[in-house]
Amino acid sequence: MTIVAADPRSIAQAAELLRDGRLVAFPTETVYGLGADATNDRAVAAIFAAKGRPSFNPLIIHLAAAEAAGELVAVDDRAAALARRFWPGPLTLVLPRRPEAAVSLLASAGLDSLAVRVPAHPVALALLAATGRPLAAPSANPSGRISPTTARHVAGDFDPPPAMILDGGPCAVGVESTVLDLTGRQAVLLRPGGIARETLEEELGPVDTAAATADPRAPGMLASHYAPARPVRLDAEQARPGEALLGFGGRAPADCLNLSAEGDLAEAAANLFAMLRRLDAPPQRAIAVMPIPRHGLGLAINDRLRRAAAPRPSSPLVRRDG
Ligand code: AMP
Ligand code: MG
Repeated sequence: MTIVAADPRSIAQAAELLRDGRLVAFPTETVYGLGADATNDRAVAAIFAAKGRPSFNPLIIHLAAAEAAGELVAVDDRAAALARRFWPGPLTLVLPRRPEAAVSLLASAGLDSLAVRVPAHPVALALLAATGRPLAAPSANPSGRISPTTARHVAGDFDPPPAMILDGGPCAVGVESTVLDLTGRQAVLLRPGGIARETLEEELGPVDTAAATADPRAPGMLASHYAPARPVRLDAEQARPGEALLGFGGRAPADCLNLSAEGDLAEAAANLFAMLRRLDAPPQRAIAVMPIPRHGLGLAINDRLRRAAAPRPSSPLVRRDG
């Protein structure tokens, strides 16, 4: 049985599994999370594989304490005030990612921002402290299923199950955290949740909603947000002049960046954003990507690549190149 009552011993074991790159479901005050070491690309890719999502969406990075946020994101006065008042608690802040932040790019779906929070649950906090790493943790349910508020919900939903499910009883809040974007001057509510908008407005003044601002970072519109500046050509067998080739599998030339020489889709997902960024730089004028199989994590990889390849009339590079 992978469900284990949360106590100091099982929490230490869970921390060990997480540091090993395995997935552990754990209780938070909102819902059960499916946790992975946020600094480990492969572990984060395993979250997407387990949830069976057809696309990548950015994950919330859970921290043991507010002080840890400063190492990952730029914390301005607004964020510091909100953190003081609401953390630990069901408020997620989207903040500019520090370039040196040791968090998987896959965990933020390639965005320049990171969503961070400190959960208000003794088991979650003990696990974070024992692991000593930030944990990426979306709700512990397969894509399209209802968020779990008990350990049993999680156990019934995954095949194979996570390496461990820490049972800390039913979740007190039962709805997800409020997600607030503070990357711009105007605070934008991306997702309503455990902390009411009115409560945030006491601290911040007026808060926009994502719909009102048509902010591209809003959930659902996120997909179009990160795209390389250079044009992307898909299903390429080889690079044309001026193109950098992003390879996949054993047929890729040895001198190109290869998402996975073994043809492993989890490895490819783990490498996707970091490799796209590396190729999206001079002297390359364009990026050609070899075909990726359309099953398993390949669906999400192809989804993201399709969006990266979609015409972007506003891109200065596209305009310059005609
Ligand atoms: P979940 O982890 O399943 O509770 O969902 C995470 C929520 O946070 C989703 O609504 C995401 O769109 C949002 N989110 C996470 N990271 C970011 C980010 N960097 N920018 C904008 N929204 C984010
Ligand atoms: Mg969810």
